[in-house]
Amino acid sequence: METSLTEKIQSVKGMHDILNDSTGDWQYLEKTIQTVLSRYGYEEIRTPLVEKTELFERSIGEATDIVSKEMYTFPDRNDQRLTLRPEGTASSVRSLMQHGLYQNNPLRLWYCGPMFRYERPQKGRTRQFHQIGAEVYGLNGPDIDAELIAMSARFWKELGITGLQLQLNTLGTNAARQVYREVLVEYLGDNEADLDEDSRVRLLKNPLRILDSKNPEMQALINDAPSMADYMDEESIDHFDGLKQLLDEINIAYTVNPRLVRGLDYYSKTVFEWLTDQLGAQATVCAGGRYDGLIEHFGGKAIAGIGFAMGLERLVELMGSSEGRKNQQKPHVYLIIAGEETVTTGFKLAEQLKNELKELKLLMHCGGGSFKSQFKKADKSGAQLALILGEDELQKQTISLKPLRKEGDQTEVSWEKLAEVLRTELEL
Ligand code: ATP
Ligand code: MG
Repeated sequence: METSLTEKIQSVKGMHDILNDSTGDWQYLEKTIQTVLSRYGYEEIRTPLVEKTELFERSIGEATDIVSKEMYTFPDRNDQRLTLRPEGTASSVRSLMQHGLYQNNPLRLWYCGPMFRYERPQKGRTRQFHQIGAEVYGLNGPDIDAELIAMSARFWKELGITGLQLQLNTLGTNAARQVYREVLVEYLGDNEADLDEDSRVRLLKNPLRILDSKNPEMQALINDAPSMADYMDEESIDHFDGLKQLLDEINIAYTVNPRLVRGLDYYSKTVFEWLTDQLGAQATVCAGGRYDGLIEHFGGKAIAGIGFAMGLERLVELMGSSEGRKNQQKPHVYLIIAGEETVTTGFKLAEQLKNELKELKLLMHCGGGSFKSQFKKADKSGAQLALILGEDELQKQTISLKPLRKEGDQTEVSWEKLAEVLRTELEL
């Protein structure tokens, strides 16, 4: 026998369906975050999922994990090199330069959607995953750094996620980082025998990234490395102090982690991460920092940038699923239409109710069948109420109501009064 198509064709490794029993949680997460974003004056942008490969190579940096081994890159039919976006910042910078968005005002933007990285799939790490990110352009001071962090803290509050730890560091100005870089290269060079393969490559291309190594065997060497904090210049220190003071003012607790560097090449000054101890190895749920040199690096003006990105899979996991959110997508009422003659009237009634009650979620039974089988489906649908239109009701121009989730007798109301009764009954 031939194997069925679905046996052979499964979703791509590391890329998952999000099924209807969990999209309620996802919608709640996205809506809650998006509401907070708009309360802070951030506006959404949507960029294509596919960009020219060069965009990521030039912005994220050749020596990063993303560019060196994680990108989904392919030639299109015209042999143009394209890449599925692995993150959101490169695309938003491309877009704002292309459209001259930053001409006058500072910009506060956010994006949401899938990202693609060819990684080893494991719990909390997939090949298609989702991020919401916020980005601000044109603001230099630590006030905006503090706003972004305060806003992210508000996400956790609104989502009821507790126990996250905020880690901060400063990578300093380009000048300060240059000085530290030389000291670090000297230290690592002296210990070259202890470096793993990745780190040897990075020693030449981007030594700071060695501090971000996840290899346990590298940790001792990293811990003994000279501290970045000792090489900061006045501008870097002032900026960082300014940020810490503002966070203190609004009681946001943080830990300064002098080894914290971000995965991408383009960061400067502030970097931060929100970490959890509840998800095993994949501990970072939100990561961000400043990238003041990025637009200039692309040939634009020297315009400051700062932002963060959150991994939504990890946040959904932390939130846990709730019955209430699952039920968000359930109908309020299930309309049972029993009998041949009732179909047209049932359909018209359903449309009329939707005209009158904008919030009403009504699931109309389609496909006929006995009253008994329809009633079973009504119960399974999760609806609070069954509306029953049978031959009897049709005659009398009424409809019967039967509560499905609580005790209560079946009642009968006229078609004219139905909308009003539902409004009261369902508190719409
Ligand atoms: P890591 O060091 O864990 O690989 P990263 O530095 O590559 O993280 P970022 O590019 O900063 O991660 O992405 C921001 C957030 O997006 C991460 O903190 C994480 O929550 C989420 N994220 C990144 N990659 C994945 C993935 N492959 N699967 C699920 N979530 C991810
Ligand atoms: Mg990564």
